[in-house]
Amino acid sequence: MSLPLLKNYINGEWEQSGTTETGTVWNPATGEKLAQVPYSTASEVDRAVQAAREAFQEWRTVPPIKRARYMFALKEVFEENFEDISKTLVREMGKTLDESRGEVRRMIENVEHSTGVTSLAMGSTLEDIARGIDCSSERQPVGVFGCIPPFNFPAMVPWWFMPYALVTGNTFVLKPSEQVPMTQGLIFELMEEIDLPEGVVNMVNGSKEVVNAMLDHPDIQGISFVGSTPTARYIYKRCGETGKRVQSLGGAKNVITVMPDTNIDKAMPSIITSFFGCAGQRCLSGAVLAPVGDIADEFLEKFVEQARNLKVGDGLDSGTQMGPLVSAAHKERVLGYIEKGISEGAELVLDGRNPAVENPEGFYVGPTIFDNVSKDMTIAREEIFGPVVSVLRAGSLQETIDYANSTGLANAACIYTSSGGAAREFKYKVKPSMVGVNVGIAAPMSFFPFGGAGDSMFGTHKGQGQDVFQFFTDAKVVISRWF
Ligand code: NAD
Repeated sequence: MSLPLLKNYINGEWEQSGTTETGTVWNPATGEKLAQVPYSTASEVDRAVQAAREAFQEWRTVPPIKRARYMFALKEVFEENFEDISKTLVREMGKTLDESRGEVRRMIENVEHSTGVTSLAMGSTLEDIARGIDCSSERQPVGVFGCIPPFNFPAMVPWWFMPYALVTGNTFVLKPSEQVPMTQGLIFELMEEIDLPEGVVNMVNGSKEVVNAMLDHPDIQGISFVGSTPTARYIYKRCGETGKRVQSLGGAKNVITVMPDTNIDKAMPSIITSFFGCAGQRCLSGAVLAPVGDIADEFLEKFVEQARNLKVGDGLDSGTQMGPLVSAAHKERVLGYIEKGISEGAELVLDGRNPAVENPEGFYVGPTIFDNVSKDMTIAREEIFGPVVSVLRAGSLQETIDYANSTGLANAACIYTSSGGAAREFKYKVKPSMVGVNVGIAAPMSFFPFGGAGDSMFGTHKGQGQDVFQFFTDAKVVISRWF
């Protein structure tokens, strides 16, 4: 049976790419092929950008309240198709259906938050900055924006940006992750129901060539990127060279600190979810577990036991608690890190290399835990992005803070404790800029900014929150005097 070849969406039309190069979209739970994704060309990017540029002229004049109404309508469409979006996402990415539903909910919350544009994109004025002279600052749309998201949140991540770009009067070109392009394909089909003007949103499937064409295109004013740190750094640099606005979010190495006064039984469920939810493929996943002092043995005994009992399988099967990794290549990469941990002398206390699963053709790695990891081992320093825990036994709170601040990847950090003082010290001193206190996934909701610090984010404006309204607008200052 031949596989469907996915289409691009340019200027309000679905069209087949002219490229001969394609990639495969897999179901990671079964190892089956789902579709072919075109690696579109620079000229197709150009056509999408020209359509967006053309559409911008009229779209920027639509009153913000009317632009917000499109988002109100879109929310309804998304709610009606909630299950369909969630299941499409599971099929191509592998997370469990409940995790997927959570992601789609977060996507919709961004649509909801964007409808506040009439307040959130307001400017400011001051009379008499000098006698008889008034000054106002007005937030104006900028033009065409591009978005390049990662594989792990196929529904949500583009929507940290897209609804905000649209309500503030900009137009948009999205290149979905080539590993998981079907979710946004469905979402763009659903978007047709709200009758946005042609060219306001465009989608070009592809890989590096599409990315580079976007980065170099003189008519794209800004780029919102989310992905691994090496790519994020590259995007940031190249956008600098071509003079674009850029928000470039990178990878993570999040430490979960467990203080001696932690209530172990209450803390355990969210710590398990932090490390093994989405098979560790979240930028907010726990990667390093740092029990402080003499809680370590008791905590680890229970932690390893619960991890061992997680049901690994197809995210669409009820009862599955952890799905596969996204691809065969990523599975190999994660297995490579497990080998590295062993060869560098860490103690493998739970080995997930051959998990018992119904579908051995899927890309599964089971929960894996290394004890007695030291700070300089590769598995303590590099992002693994899988269900592999590095346990770094710490002698003091300061030691875990120093570790969290030492990897360069400063996305998130969490502390479990009963002490307000310890929690305050932790949040005050850690560099990672999404902090959880007795919360294992410190995920800001749509009305708060999302993004890290250090090598986890390049640029100043994060996704979501108020930041994103600023990213998508220029604060034009008008100073006026009337004679
Ligand atoms: P990735 O960097 O491999 O790919 C991200 C995007 O960049 C994709 O659309 C891909 O097509 C493109 N790309 C990849 N390599 C490129 C290259 N050399 N040149 C041009 N374009 C390129 O990331 P991924 O594997 O899809 O996603 C996982 C990563 O994303 C992890 O590191 C994770 O921590 C990170 N992530 C970060 C956040 C955050 O909020 N900071 C959120 C989600 C994921």
